[in-house]
Amino acid sequence: MSDLNLLHAAQLARVTDRGAARRGDEQRELDLIADGGVAVRAGRIAAAGTTEQILSEWDDEVPTLDLTGKTVLPGLIECHSHPLFAGSRHAEYSRRLGGASLEEVVREGGGIWATVTATRSAADTDLIRQLEGAYRRILAGGVTTLEVKSGYGLTPEHELHQLALLDRSRELTPLSLVVSFLGAHVVPAGIDADAYTEEVASMLPVVLEQGVAAFHDLTCEHGLFTPQQAGRLLARSRELGIPTKVHADAWASSEGWRTAVAGGAVSAEHLTYTPDEEILDAGWTDTVAVLLPQAELVYMTERRANARLLVGRRVPVSIATDYCSSIHATSLTTTLGIAAPWFRLTPAEVLVGATLNAAYALGLQRDRGSVDTGKRADLTILGVEHPEELFLAVGQRVVDGVVIAGVPVDGLGAETSPNSPEVR
Ligand SMILES: [Zn+2]
Repeated sequence: MSDLNLLHAAQLARVTDRGAARRGDEQRELDLIADGGVAVRAGRIAAAGTTEQILSEWDDEVPTLDLTGKTVLPGLIECHSHPLFAGSRHAEYSRRLGGASLEEVVREGGGIWATVTATRSAADTDLIRQLEGAYRRILAGGVTTLEVKSGYGLTPEHELHQLALLDRSRELTPLSLVVSFLGAHVVPAGIDADAYTEEVASMLPVVLEQGVAAFHDLTCEHGLFTPQQAGRLLARSRELGIPTKVHADAWASSEGWRTAVAGGAVSAEHLTYTPDEEILDAGWTDTVAVLLPQAELVYMTERRANARLLVGRRVPVSIATDYCSSIHATSLTTTLGIAAPWFRLTPAEVLVGATLNAAYALGLQRDRGSVDTGKRADLTILGVEHPEELFLAVGQRVVDGVVIAGVPVDGLGAETSPNSPEVR
C-alpha cells in the first residue's frame, strides 16, 4: 500500500528544504524540474527528479500515475482556519457592504461574539456536519494538511469540548489536521480582559492534559488583548512548553508583530496594520508572517499587510485563507491567486508560502512542505502545465487531486498493474 510512481509531470516544483523557512530571494525559487517524477514507497518520498531518473532506479512493479500536462507541487498546507462554527455572518457582511461600520454591526449583535453564542448552543451533530462539508471543500482546493482552531467557546468547558470535537473530526477526512487552542480569541461579555487572560492561562495545563492542541493561539489586538496580556500568555506557554501563534494587528496597529516576535511565537497572522517601523525594528526572526488576503478583502480594511517589506527584511512569509464564520474561503488555491496581486508577491513567493513556509508555521517541516526524500508523500496535482498558470485562473478549479501519504485522493485513478497492490 501507498507505493506509487508519479511520472511525466510537465513541471515538478520541489521547493527543496534547505534546513530553514525560505526568506527574501530564496522565497522566489520553486526548484522546478521539467518532465518530473516522484517515487513513493511506504507513503514516503523515496526519490524525486526527472522521469528518466525515476525510471532508471525505481522501475519496479508499482502503480503509476501519468501526469502529462500537469504540475506537481508539495502538498498545500493551510495554516490558519476556524472551521468549527455554527451560523453564517452573511447578513452583517451585507450590512457592511451597504455602508455600515464594523462598530455598528457589532452593536447590532454581529461579530465573533455572535458566532460564539451560536456555536455554544449548536448540537454536536450539526457542528460535525459543518466540519465534514468544510473539509471536503478544503481538500478539493488542493490542501493536504490543515490547521484548525477552537475559539468559539471561550469558557474552559466549551473550549475543551470544541477541541475534542476537532480531534474526533479527524475520522471525517483524509486531511491531516493540526489543532490549535484559541481561548484568547476575543474577550467574552461580562469579564474584563485581565481576568479573562488569567482564565486562559489557567486553562492551558488542562488543554495540555487533554492532549489535542498542538499550538496555543492568542490575540494581540487593540480593544481585545494588550501586548502585556498577550505577553503574559506567551510566557506561560513557554513555561509549559506549548508552541504559540498570534492573531496580530488585524484591525489596528497593536504591537502584535513586536509582541509575537519577542515572545518567540512560531507564527503571527494578519499583520494588516503592522507599522513599517515595527517590522524594521523587530529585525531578524524565525516567526513566520502568515498573511490573510481574504480577511483584508472581506473586512474591507483600509490597509494591507506590507508583504514586500516583510520579504525584503527576510521574514519568512506564508499565506492562508482564514476560513471562519465570516470568511467562507475553503479554496486555498483561490486565496493564493488573490494573494499575488493583492500583496504584489510573485507566484513562487506565494507557493513557497503555502508549502514549505506553512510547514514551518506548523512545526511540521521535518515531515511536510517540500518534495524531499524521506518526507511524507503529500502532493498537490494541478491540471496546468506550469505552476504560474494557477495565478491566471483565480477562482477556477485547477486542482486535479492530491496525494496524501502516498495515497491518491479525488479524481486521480492510478493505473494499477496486475501484480501490484491496489491503490485506493
Ligand atoms: Zn483567525
